[in-house]
Amino acid sequence: MNINNLSRKNIQVLTPYQSARRLGGKGDIWLNANEYPISPNFDLTDRTFNRYPEPQPQAVVERYAAYAGVSSDNVLVSRGGDESIELIIRAFCEADDAVLYCPPTYGMYAVSAEACGIACKTVPLTADFQLNLAEIERQLDGVKVVFVCSPNNPTGNLIKRSDLLELLQMTAGRAIVVVDEAYIEFCPEATMMTALANYPHLAIIRTLSKAFALAGLRCGFTLANAELIQVLQKVIAPYPLPVPVSDIAAQALQPQGLTQMQYSVAELLANRADLQKNLENLPLVEQVYPSEANYLLVKFKDGQKVFSSLWQKGIILRDQHKAPGLQNSIRVTIGTALENQRVIEAISEIN
Ligand SMILES: *Cc1c(COP(=O)(O)O)cnc(C)c1O
Repeated sequence: MNINNLSRKNIQVLTPYQSARRLGGKGDIWLNANEYPISPNFDLTDRTFNRYPEPQPQAVVERYAAYAGVSSDNVLVSRGGDESIELIIRAFCEADDAVLYCPPTYGMYAVSAEACGIACKTVPLTADFQLNLAEIERQLDGVKVVFVCSPNNPTGNLIKRSDLLELLQMTAGRAIVVVDEAYIEFCPEATMMTALANYPHLAIIRTLSKAFALAGLRCGFTLANAELIQVLQKVIAPYPLPVPVSDIAAQALQPQGLTQMQYSVAELLANRADLQKNLENLPLVEQVYPSEANYLLVKFKDGQKVFSSLWQKGIILRDQHKAPGLQNSIRVTIGTALENQRVIEAISEIN
């Protein structure tokens, strides 16, 4: 008997998340993981390494709460937004419950559910990448957690606020609604934060990995009413955040760090507008979808050809051709102005 056969059945059949890093590639322009293109600079201020860290580092929690406009008991800090996804599934789903999500969307909802042995129901987004509320309502039996990503990865659009509110009404007392706001700093006015007051079953996921340019830190947040946060506190690891992580996160959330983040966002949005315009002028491009985030979804005449020819040139993008409805589409993270220019040149050279 081999070791794989000893593992749980759902793990034997599990396809791990195809993260950008796992997919590999040899490049000098990495535009496949929605990372910020330049690293911020921090020095460690806390050098106490012999002690266990604070379970929920107070400075990080308080500063994030102030930034988000909630109180500290509405915040849970975790190892990236990804850990929040898993905590919610582990805390709320019984073995025979299901989660529901709306593809094309972020891959970790399915991977986390499958790793926990929880069934997935899918209700595809409509042709304009919005929720199919009628179908979601029909599928809701046995569903304990509904994941909605807004702005949605990889399509880039916002889910309509009125639809999210209708979803919250529909699920009240039955299921948790997770609104994944990993990219919300690129369109801060769209946050669902204001709905927290009315919906105890709403959980909002945030991260320092995107606009804060700190993907290497592994620091994310769940925002929700205190009762929901307390449930998650029961299942999170005792010391989830290493001392250096919370040290740097606390610095990034100081006023100066927030100003830096907002400046970075403004610059990125200007670069996104340029890249969008330049892509639209290329004959191989069929459509550039509107985006509220730090990436563009682009439909080409022959997406595979564009993807592999840029890959050969060391420009690594994120192929989306296997995602439902996204044939010939590629997701391009916004890079520096120079990197974006290289993308345009490389596509122009394809004949
Ligand atoms: C990047 C991302 C996350 C979380 O990333 P972490 O690095 O784990 O914080 C969550 N949801 C979506 C849609 C993302 O793109």
